[in-house]
Amino acid sequence: MNGGVLVLGGTSEARALASALVGHGVHVVSSLAGRVAAPRLPEGEVRIGGFGGPDGLARWLTEHRIAAVVDATHPFAERIGASAAAGTRQAGVPALRLQRPGWEQSPGDDWHWVDTLADAAAALPGLGERVFLTSGRQGLAAFAGLSRLWFLVRCVDPPEPPLPPSHELLLSRGPYHVGEERDLMRRYRVDVLVTKDSGGSMTAAKLEAARELAVPVVVVRRPARPGMSAVSSTADALAWTLQRVNR
Ligand code: NAP
Repeated sequence: MNGGVLVLGGTSEARALASALVGHGVHVVSSLAGRVAAPRLPEGEVRIGGFGGPDGLARWLTEHRIAAVVDATHPFAERIGASAAAGTRQAGVPALRLQRPGWEQSPGDDWHWVDTLADAAAALPGLGERVFLTSGRQGLAAFAGLSRLWFLVRCVDPPEPPLPPSHELLLSRGPYHVGEERDLMRRYRVDVLVTKDSGGSMTAAKLEAARELAVPVVVVRRPARPGMSAVSSTADALAWTLQRVNR
């Protein structure tokens, strides 16, 4: 390959960008971490697994003569973000961050912003007793000591232990709709919701359901993703990329 594009993926924006690039006749390789058992696959070439840190990524970019990299990974995938910033700099390959906008509070919302999952766990005892935990399968150890609370833990694949002692596990993947989120929260008598500020429409329905049911929400702020200029739409990422590749 000469002059192709690497999209660091695992998000719906990454899949949309890969499709658009394929549509423009660009050779695109999408890269996935390999964490999800049956990932939604983007169009174009796909490679699965880590690169071996920034040095491994820089080597891979040079070997595959990559002309441009778009880091379209999830807002909370910090390590690959840091690796992408350092590895692309090392290899001298132009790079762009594609990051969807965060969620915004609406009138009637009762949101409690925190910086980490540990802070979310610390905030919970004052807010509710039946927790809908939707922060993903990683880092749930932060909640493992909360033995007086009950948790409905929802994630795509089974979470990494340890988990809170009193919980029910719900394995599912969005998109979700407001009506079903409201029914779920009512059925389980959820009185507090925990989420990362993932942004996007695929999983936003829980926030609307929480507003309707007057359920407080603990929202984990996004980590900083320094080292790359960023855009928030697939269209902007596409325009940037098309300027840097041979078609
Ligand atoms: P992470 O902690 O930032 O990354 C851990 C390691 O996994 C990286 O150092 C890298 O290994 C490898 N890796 C991560 N994303 C990769 C990719 N797209 N292609 C190739 N290697 C990748 O990542 P994470 O938070 O576990 O997320 C893993 C993937 O799931 C990401 O692609 C992300 O977009 C997606 N995702 C994450 C979340 C979340 O909440 N964190 C939610 C939804 C989807 P090497 O150092 O060996 O290169």
